Amino acid sequence: MTDLSEELRLPVACPDCGSHLFKVSQVHNPDDRVFCTSCRRYLCLYHEAQEILRLGPCSEREALIEKVVNRPAK
Ligand SMILES: [Zn+2]
Repeated sequence: MTDLSEELRLPVACPDCGSHLFKVSQVHNPDDRVFCTSCRRYLCLYHEAQEILRLGPCSEREALIEKVVNRPAK
């Protein structure tokens, strides 16, 4: 069986368990969901994760992280 997901390390800590390791589909659609590897909590969409990585350490990224972690889990 092929595992169609890959791990993604983000500067965002999972709001539930504090892990920085997330899972995303290898297809990499912008709308793919990114999940916590440990507790499988939904964190954000793939394009948001890419944006967090692209922005680097700056206040804009902090604001985006804040938005992502404060959103209710679906
Ligand atoms: Zn978690």
